[in-house]
Amino acid sequence: MAALASFLGPACTPSAPSVAPSAGAPVRRVRPGDPSWPNAASWERLNRQIGGQLITVRSPLADCGSAPQGAACAELFKRLKNPYYLGDEVGLTQTLGWVDAWTSQPSAYAVAARRTEDVVAAVNFARENKLRLVVKGGGHSYLGTSNAPDSLLIWTRRMNAITVHDAFVGAGCAGRTAPQPAVTVEAGAIWMHVYNEVTTKAGRYVQGGGCATVGVAGLIQSGGFGSFSKRYGLAAAGLLEAEIVTADGAVRIANACTNRELFWGIKGGGGGSLGVVTRLTLKTRELPAFFGVVTMTIRAASDAVFRRLVGRVIGFYAETLFNPHWGEQIVFRPDNILAIQMVFQGLDRQQAEDVWRPFFEWVAASPEDFRILSGPLVVAVPARRFWDPAFLKGFPGIVVADDRPGAPEGNVLWAGDEGQAAQFLHGYQSACLPAALLEKEPQSRLGDALFAASRYWALALHVNKGLGGAPADEVAAAGDTAINPAVLNSFALVISAAEGPPAYPGIAGHEPDQAAARRHAAAIDNAMKEVRKLLPDVGSYVSESNFFEADWARSYWGPNYQRLLAVKDSYDSDGLFVVHHGAGSERWSADGFTRLA
Ligand SMILES: Cc1cc2nc3c(=O)[nH]c(=O)nc-3n(C[C@H](O)[C@H](O)[C@H](O)COP(=O)(O)OP(=O)(O)OC[C@H]3O[C@@H](n4cnc5c(N)ncnc54)[C@H](O)[C@@H]3O)c2cc1C
Repeated sequence: MAALASFLGPACTPSAPSVAPSAGAPVRRVRPGDPSWPNAASWERLNRQIGGQLITVRSPLADCGSAPQGAACAELFKRLKNPYYLGDEVGLTQTLGWVDAWTSQPSAYAVAARRTEDVVAAVNFARENKLRLVVKGGGHSYLGTSNAPDSLLIWTRRMNAITVHDAFVGAGCAGRTAPQPAVTVEAGAIWMHVYNEVTTKAGRYVQGGGCATVGVAGLIQSGGFGSFSKRYGLAAAGLLEAEIVTADGAVRIANACTNRELFWGIKGGGGGSLGVVTRLTLKTRELPAFFGVVTMTIRAASDAVFRRLVGRVIGFYAETLFNPHWGEQIVFRPDNILAIQMVFQGLDRQQAEDVWRPFFEWVAASPEDFRILSGPLVVAVPARRFWDPAFLKGFPGIVVADDRPGAPEGNVLWAGDEGQAAQFLHGYQSACLPAALLEKEPQSRLGDALFAASRYWALALHVNKGLGGAPADEVAAAGDTAINPAVLNSFALVISAAEGPPAYPGIAGHEPDQAAARRHAAAIDNAMKEVRKLLPDVGSYVSESNFFEADWARSYWGPNYQRLLAVKDSYDSDGLFVVHHGAGSERWSADGFTRLA
């Protein structure tokens, strides 16, 4: 409750509403067919209010039901590999499901919001009619939190304006914070489009996510890591201001001067739990001269040799790469393959190559032990071109373009992310690895654990998804967000995951392979058990974690959870906003329809 004392709400923006649940708080939400489901006239009133943007949602997959072997269904499954197509379909999500967890299902109706007023109308309609409400932006939730059957969906895809500022001051902050360069983004924008405006066109840097088609609002509310987070910190820590529609239908501004606890909660407290964010302003920074990539794939001749390679790469990371220059991944595979997929900033190509030379030479010195399958490749590009779609299209295999006729030129994605479009997940687990594991003595235990884990399933150290080794001011800024503080001194997030191609239960010929999926999930479980032997109570990252995470509140938010719950209760004590493993979701049934407590 102490946290509530720090609310500051000037007259122009409503401050926190009352904390107690209202007398009319639903214990059960209504579904289509229930007597109190809104009638056609009510839906039509809503439709008029929002300028005709109400959609009766139907999944394109429904067309496959009647003719699963037909040409139209085959064509649809091809289209599903395009994340831009998925993003533009109101009834689809970027992941189609997760075995034994969830399957993507369309809402009953959707408000295709174009303005904040549309969001207000939808929030009020859902609250007054006791509907299950769900919010979708980029649609990339692995946990399935942007779809819910029998719900009303607020779909922000069409709110995607991006405005670059030279000198931004938040509402109520005049004279309290200095003007600074920034970018204001509407809630439905995706990172590729933001990077193109901020970096390619304006020559600045904004900290966002790695995947080009992820939504800005979803990522910021998760915390958000990009390839260069080891230098520029957590994406949410760069948030200067948000506009958000809360459960009471009020439009609130949240920033360092106004609605401060709400602001803190938006930064990493998890999407879909506090309200509908309609607009975000993020700080921008100077660009470094170059961004670059280092890749290499090595196969070890035996298990014993692979264990040696694991030890060497960890030692090399600890001595040489554990600093703000380096991000992305080191992958360990059961077939004794090590894949280096790293990025760098603040160095030129020659400097990066000099850094890596001792490692390359070490590998090359033992050809009987190590077979180099690809690389080593060290490439640098002017930073301003790193997200420039026209430039990237000149290098085959780097990006994939949206292949729909008439698609905007800027619609590209990293080729490496294409495999995730319309995936059906088999398993996904992650854990924050404390930087202390890089010290001399624990390093060998870390090597043993990663080696043992890799006997079951592949796993990747995402070194940009832990802020250990980042500049102190970036670590401090991330400390002023809701994210689990374990992230602040982790050197990496280790992720082990498996997915199958586009599939959907009930569509003959396109069903997920459940038996294989469960086998893979069990293997991932075994792999991550080896990692957890190092430290049983590690944290995780809400957006990239296990659907079945038992101790999710501690894992995602650690000691910040009670404060986050207080924010939730201040703005949504009736639980209008419920998502799987989101703040306050423990009070609701798994489908979000029945209040348990
Ligand atoms: C291929 C892929 C790559 C990824 N790469 C990265 C990465 O590099 N770094 C990283 O940090 N994460 C990454 N993620 C995870 C991603 O950041 C999160 O899943 C993020 O929440 C997705 O946001 P979205 O808007 O695309 O998704 P959505 O599914 O639309 O939204 C995610 C959650 O946020 C809520 N939400 C969305 N918009 C709003 C809004 N306007 N107001 C309130 N709530 C809202 C939704 O209800 C849902 O609960 C990746 C995910 C995928 C699938």
